[in-house]
Amino acid sequence: MFALQKTEPTHGFTATTEAPAPEPGPGEVLIAVTHAGVCGTDKGIYEWAPWTVSHVSLGVTVGHELVGRVAGLGAGVSRVREGQRVSAEGHIACGSCKPCRTGESHVCKNVRVLGASVNGGFADFVVVPEGNVWPVHDSISDETAAILDPIGNAMHTVMTAGVAGRTVLVTGAGVIGAISIAIARAAGAGTIIATDISARRRELALDLGADHALPGDDPEWPEQARHLTGGDGPDVLLEMSGNPTAISQGLSSLRRGGTAALLGVPTKPVELDLLNDVVFKGATIRGVFGRRMYETWHQVENMLVGGRLNLDSVISHRIPIRDYERAFALMSSDQAMKIVFVIGEDSSLTLRTPARG
Ligand SMILES: [Zn+2]
Ligand SMILES: [Zn+2]
Repeated sequence: MFALQKTEPTHGFTATTEAPAPEPGPGEVLIAVTHAGVCGTDKGIYEWAPWTVSHVSLGVTVGHELVGRVAGLGAGVSRVREGQRVSAEGHIACGSCKPCRTGESHVCKNVRVLGASVNGGFADFVVVPEGNVWPVHDSISDETAAILDPIGNAMHTVMTAGVAGRTVLVTGAGVIGAISIAIARAAGAGTIIATDISARRRELALDLGADHALPGDDPEWPEQARHLTGGDGPDVLLEMSGNPTAISQGLSSLRRGGTAALLGVPTKPVELDLLNDVVFKGATIRGVFGRRMYETWHQVENMLVGGRLNLDSVISHRIPIRDYERAFALMSSDQAMKIVFVIGEDSSLTLRTPARG
């Protein structure tokens, strides 16, 4: 079968048509993948970024955001049927560590990760435990179903901060930032302010429900954010950029007693004014990793099926997986938002024009 693999500890992936098709073991489900979302994590693994090195087993098939059809059932599988359209949670939790046993399996100590430590979804077929399979509602498109995983990250961030009736600052309007804006709007946020260095992304942020979009490279934006929230500063910060300057600017503009949820991944330790921006401010800071399993999956489905959330404009490209190098090149520009690979028999379809410009 076709598979995109990380075989060498250098830049790039290896595409092969010779990978052995996996067999579902007891309690496992075989999925014929039709569409797969391309994530910043995949780009990090492609480029062999230092933060990915310790998490990736060389030889692994990459990709963790996917939708497909059930193509085989291991012994004892009872809740899914062949042919069913499904997505899957990419974090395989152990079920027995302290986080798992206290309802926090998204931060499992022994987690195995699809497309990093176990074979993932950039392939014709992938095997996942039955418990990780998520049947997809008929009204959700294949492209959206392929990105339920990052929509879940955004949902977790928004829900952990609590945005209803609150003013919200989103630093970084890339894919997850943009999705968070749409979710925060749907979840009843007050004024939403986005920041990004890209004009194209600021425009999309406004389309998705932000009231204001400020240039992230303008040192005056924290003052503007305070001004736009009645002088107090935003009630909530959703930090999506991982950029050290944006993190400290975001915390400095947060109102006294505000809440920050940090999802962006800094590539090195970040210096903060803890005394003034956290301690004296009485701020609450939450780290966000993965998605609450499976609460956020239900929340995402409820918003998508109810029509409160439409993320079509976040998906900028649909690319046959054999053109994967073009996808990663596009991700290095601001020309792409979310890219979805088309896999299997549909993969002869041509590139869709970018949604924006
Ligand atoms: Zn991802
Ligand atoms: Zn665990």
